[in-house]
Amino acid sequence: MTFEYAPALESTSVVSLKDQYGLFINGEFVNAQAGEHFATLNPANEDHLANISQGSSHDIDVAVKAARKAFTTWSAMPGAERGKYLYRIARIIQDRSREIAVLETLDNGKPIRETRDVDIPLVAAHFFHYAGWADKLEYAGMGNNPQPLGVAGQIIPWNFPLLMLAWKIAPALAAGNTVVLKPAEETPLTALLFAEICQQADLPPGVVNIVTGDGSTGRALVEHPDVNKIAFTGSTEVGRLIAHAVAGTHKKVTLELGGKAANIVFDDAPIDQAIEGVVNGIFFNQGHVCCAGSRLLIQESVYDQFMELLYDRCNTLRLGNPLDKNTDVGAINSAAQLARITEIAATGDAEGAHRWTASCAIPEKGFWYPPTIFTDVSQANRIAREEIFGPVLSVLTFRTPEEAIEKANNSPFGLSAGIWTEKGSRILQVASQLRAGVIWANTFNKFDATSPFGGYKESGYGREGGRHGLEPYLKVGV
Ligand code: NAD
Repeated sequence: MTFEYAPALESTSVVSLKDQYGLFINGEFVNAQAGEHFATLNPANEDHLANISQGSSHDIDVAVKAARKAFTTWSAMPGAERGKYLYRIARIIQDRSREIAVLETLDNGKPIRETRDVDIPLVAAHFFHYAGWADKLEYAGMGNNPQPLGVAGQIIPWNFPLLMLAWKIAPALAAGNTVVLKPAEETPLTALLFAEICQQADLPPGVVNIVTGDGSTGRALVEHPDVNKIAFTGSTEVGRLIAHAVAGTHKKVTLELGGKAANIVFDDAPIDQAIEGVVNGIFFNQGHVCCAGSRLLIQESVYDQFMELLYDRCNTLRLGNPLDKNTDVGAINSAAQLARITEIAATGDAEGAHRWTASCAIPEKGFWYPPTIFTDVSQANRIAREEIFGPVLSVLTFRTPEEAIEKANNSPFGLSAGIWTEKGSRILQVASQLRAGVIWANTFNKFDATSPFGGYKESGYGREGGRHGLEPYLKVGV
């Protein structure tokens, strides 16, 4: 018997969209110098949401100058005073959380259940966490008198728009830096709402500047001579360009890049929890997650049983309107990302893997890809090596823990991993040999403002979150 759910749509009346948005520089919304705009769409129905300003290198220069001027007073302010502003921002985010969650879902396509219960609570938690650090920097284990760097240039992707902003802005401000942030061109709306929140919090002008635009705007920020630090989250390809651009300059840099995480299921794993963890690991946020568990490694002795349960569970996933509170799988963020997922998944068919697709109806408008699982995957296949950044799982098998570790580490990336077993000693033994920055045991995709996050190898360098997340924004050891 199948159950039908009545629609439970979240109202959009709480959000007020402007037709056109300016850049947020020196505490005010201003027009971009060239007056050019681009559209941001709702990926679930392709509706036009708003026109966004295309920032130029001139606009970046104006924003960096505003941030440089504000740095003098912001960095000299007692930490406890800076902390008050961060607490105020955190509380406003909580107050306006429903509005922010709906706006994020409209612009990004992710289910309201996730923006409401994951993204926005974590955003507030990040500001609360770093508010607490602002007057305790000398106890962070980074010297007696750690000093801010100056102006931070920050560039973020579209998959967790406001959460990535919080990961960047909260530690930078707590440490006494000022920032110029460039949101992703696909999802700028919550960053612009955050600019309004800065005004509401009476944050001094120039401490936070938001310059929207595409990759060329990001490049202008990276290349600006008066920026002291670049913090980038995005693709490994752009991360490489940035590493080249800042090489030989005084700029400090952190790169949070892609991943291809192994989620390892041993034969003694608590099977029902492991099924939930594997589903969450790859289908949360449509798989648009740098640390997604996109390679499932199953011990051979439980393979048949596990796959049967996994297919059954995936057939219950509800794909559709992201504003419906029953929706599990939302829209793919853009036509370009849908094309990329489709292209890489097709190589799975061509290279001999076996494709399984969840039985869910695909809406007529918008960008959608159904939950997809490939079995008979070999380690050399593209779907086992490249980041797909979509709801596509590649399944491999192993016989011994040694084989699992070898296969898990056989990747150019090293961001995250998962281990499923009842045996505590096995968790410790396997975790100690995995080359991944974050390792979850009997859970997956859990985030916490107090915990550092970051990768090895082509997943980048530097850590965000927790005490470690202050280090990239301080002159350590001064
Ligand atoms: P992307 O690299 O194309 O774009 C990211 C940002 O960089 C955007 O704001 C874009 O405008 C800007 N940009 C593009 N070209 C630039 C250039 N030459 N100089 C400076 N800025 C430039 O990535 P994407 O497709 O938007 O995001 C998906 C990628 O992000 C995935 O690979 C994913 O794994 C990664 N990601 C990593 C983490 C992490 O913490 N490691 C978190 C989220 C996403």
